[in-house]
Amino acid sequence: MRISVIGTGYVGLVTGVCLAEIGHIVTCIDIDALKINLLRSGKSPIYEPGLEELIVKNMAEGRLHFTNQYNEGLIRAEVIYIAVGTPSNEDGTADLSALEDAAIAIADQISNDVVIVTKSTVPIGTGDRLKAIIEYNKSNDSVSFEMVSNPEFLREGSAINDTFYGDRIIIGSDSVKAAEMIEEINKPFQIPIYKTSIRSAEMIKYASNAFLATKISFINEISNLCEKLDADITEVAQGMGMDKRIGAHFLNAGIGYGGSCFPKDTNALMQIAGNANHDFELLRSVIEVNKKQQNILTEKAKRRFGSLEGLKIAVLGLAFKPNTDDMREAASLTVVTDLIKSGAVVSAYDPIAIDNARKLLPEEVEFLSNIEDAIQDADCVFILTEWPEIVNFDLELYVSKMGKPVIFDGRNCLDMTKIQELKIEYHSVGRSSIY
Ligand code: NAD
Repeated sequence: MRISVIGTGYVGLVTGVCLAEIGHIVTCIDIDALKINLLRSGKSPIYEPGLEELIVKNMAEGRLHFTNQYNEGLIRAEVIYIAVGTPSNEDGTADLSALEDAAIAIADQISNDVVIVTKSTVPIGTGDRLKAIIEYNKSNDSVSFEMVSNPEFLREGSAINDTFYGDRIIIGSDSVKAAEMIEEINKPFQIPIYKTSIRSAEMIKYASNAFLATKISFINEISNLCEKLDADITEVAQGMGMDKRIGAHFLNAGIGYGGSCFPKDTNALMQIAGNANHDFELLRSVIEVNKKQQNILTEKAKRRFGSLEGLKIAVLGLAFKPNTDDMREAASLTVVTDLIKSGAVVSAYDPIAIDNARKLLPEEVEFLSNIEDAIQDADCVFILTEWPEIVNFDLELYVSKMGKPVIFDGRNCLDMTKIQELKIEYHSVGRSSIY
C-alpha cells in the first residue's frame, strides 16, 4: 500500500517506520525542514530504542521516504495518516491548529480517492470536523475520501515494541470499506483489531489515558495514607495487583505522572466534558492529586533540612520516564524549578534528556554527564526518573562521594536492604524513611 504520514514526531515517525517495516511504501511529511534533513541522513531526531536502525534499513530498502513538501509527499497516496501534535491551549483544550493545517493541505493536494486516518489524539467530534474542512477545501471535485480514527497507544521508550506487540488496534470509521482497508494494512502486526464508530474511537483514547492517570493518582493517594499509617506502599500495591480485576500495572507510587499525554489529555477531557455540560468530578480530583504529588519530595526535603537555601542538591533523572528524551510535562520541571526558587544549588544528570532539559529548566542548573560528578559533595540527592543507570548505580559511591548521603527517591527504585546495610538516610514515597 502507498501510505503518507503527516508529522514525524514520536507517533508519526514510529508509525511510518513500522508501516514501512511490514512492507508498505511510506512517505513521511513534516513542516520542520531540519527534522526532514536529519531523517534523510538516516538520523532519528528523537531518542527511541531501535528506531534509528529501522529508519536506515527501510530507507536502504526503498520503502521509506521523507519530505517537507506536501505535493511531493501526498502524491498518489492511497492512505494518509495524520499524526501531528495536539498540544494544550492555555485553557486546557486541545490545540487543533496543526491538524487543521494538515487537513487543508490534504484538501489542496489529493488527486485520487483516499482514506484519511487520524492518529493524533483529538476531541470527540474532530473526525467529523476534519471531514467538513477537507470537503469544503477540496481542490479536485472528482476525488472522494473517507475518514478513519485510529488512535495511538504506543508508549515513548518502548514505541517500536508497542507498535509490533500492542494490546489492540482501534479502527473507528463510518465507512465499512475504509475500516477494512486500515484493517488490511495492520494485519501483519497480528494485534487484535476492534472496529468502532469514529466518535467511540476518539473517546477510547481519552478514556484510556484518563483511566491510567486515575490509577496513578489513586495509588499515590494510598501511598500518602500509608506514610501516615505506617503501611508500606510496595507491599500494598503488590497485594492489590494480584487481583486480576485490578491488575498489577500502573500501581507504582511516586511523584506523579507527566509526559506529553496524560497531563494534556486529562485536561482536554475535562474541557470536553465541560463543553457537554458534564462535571467530571473524578477526573478533576485525579489532576489535582497529581499536581500535589509532584511537590511531595521537595516538601519532605524542606521538613528534613528546615530550609533548602544554599544546599547542594543532585537531581538524578530529568525525562518524564526512562528510555526517552521527552521532557514535556516532566515532574522534574516542577521539582527543579521549585528547588532553585528555594535557594538550592542544583546539579542535574540524565543519560539522554539533558539537551532538551537545558531549554526548559532554570539557567542556574548545572548539567553533568555522569552520576558521580552530579553527586560529588551534594547535601542530598533527588531521584526523579528510574533510568537503569540510576537504579543500578553502586550505592557505596553515594557514601564515598557525599560522606553522609541523604536520598529522596521519587520513584521508589533503590534497593532498601542495601541502603539499610550502608546506613544511608533514605526517604521514598509511601514507605517508612530509613535513618
Ligand atoms: P510531536 O510533537 O512529537 O510531533 C508532531 C510533529 O508534527 C512535529 O514533528 C511537527 O513538526 C509536525 N507538524 C506540526 N504541524 C504539521 C503540519 N501542519 N504538517 C506536517 N507536520 C506537522 O507529537 P507526538 O508526541 O508524536 O504526538 C502526536 C499526536 O499523537 C498527539 O495528538 C499526541 O497526543 C498523540 N499521541 C502521542 C503519544 C506519545 O507518546 N508521544 C502516544 C499516543 C498518542
